[in-house]
Amino acid sequence: MYSMSDNNKHDVGSEPQTILTISDLCTYFSNDDAVIKAVDGVSLSVKKGEILGIVGESGSGKSVTALSIMKLIRWPGKIVQGKILFDGKDLMQCKRGTMRSIRGNRISMIFQDPSTSLNPSLTIGEQMSESLKYHLGMKRAKAWERAKKLLDIVHIPHPDERLKQYPHQLSGGMRQRVMIAIALSCNPELLIADEPTTALDVTIQSQILDLIMELRDKYGTAIIFITHDIGVIAEIADKVAVMYCGKILAYGDTQTVLTRPIHPYLSALIQAMPKLDVEEDRLESIPGIVPNLKHLPKGCHFSPRCHLADEKCRNEMPALEQTDNYLTRCWAASSI
Ligand code: ADP
Ligand code: MG
Repeated sequence: MYSMSDNNKHDVGSEPQTILTISDLCTYFSNDDAVIKAVDGVSLSVKKGEILGIVGESGSGKSVTALSIMKLIRWPGKIVQGKILFDGKDLMQCKRGTMRSIRGNRISMIFQDPSTSLNPSLTIGEQMSESLKYHLGMKRAKAWERAKKLLDIVHIPHPDERLKQYPHQLSGGMRQRVMIAIALSCNPELLIADEPTTALDVTIQSQILDLIMELRDKYGTAIIFITHDIGVIAEIADKVAVMYCGKILAYGDTQTVLTRPIHPYLSALIQAMPKLDVEEDRLESIPGIVPNLKHLPKGCHFSPRCHLADEKCRNEMPALEQTDNYLTRCWAASSI
């Protein structure tokens, strides 16, 4: 059985070590008429063996946060401010070559749609070998052996046959397992999963969540798990950051945050969650729409949709502050 302890990257002391700390990250997109603050002052951290969930509606800045960590933001986007400390190293100061050696090796990422991330004209084995050859300098035969073991780790049966197949010969769930295997190929210390189960049906989704938790338990990998589904957060995340219009609205221990949803946006997200035990004709959705980032409302960005909003909320942005054992950005929080 393949072991991730071939190297000492995962040595854990008594206290789990913080592997990533982001402080005051701002990533903006500029065009002729506006500056879009896709990520606006985000601070968070992840420890070894921990799953940090990032949750929010579409357009809240989750993917831009992930791509910023990987330093994959392209023009007209730019990281305009902030620190990204990975294992003590500030990635903002890293040259391109250094980032290339970190990406796919020490930090790896999986995306929502495995069919667009896999190359349709290469076999699974060829694609899996690529990163092993590039980062670990393996020769073909050794890379093939390792690829087989990786398929075993992600519970894909008959790895020998699978390696010779093309992506279209695999189901969506299998393809996502292959993507996870590729992401794991160099024993990453940090795995970023950006809506990895959104394109999959519910049964397959829960198998993939189980697999991700198993990998965390076995190898102590730190994981950032991005989703728009608060139900998935409840299942998988140790800590959660709730994002809205580029800012964190709530951040803390998942159990505490979800059982005491102080922020009205968080309560609305939980309300909108499908309930297993209740037959519902339709899903409740959060009233109103996510504002256009080009024309953000003054004050708290959630205020136009918030039933508790008053004059102050509509005029002044609240800070992210400690309340009830976690951080929340809400003027009304103390009175709830
Ligand atoms: P999500 O939370 O759905 O992952 P994203 O992080 O992808 O949201 O995007 C947040 C916002 O950033 C988008 O709503 C959009 O306004 C802006 N944005 C993202 N990518 C680009 C881009 N390439 N060009 C311009 N704006 C972008
Ligand atoms: Mg996204």
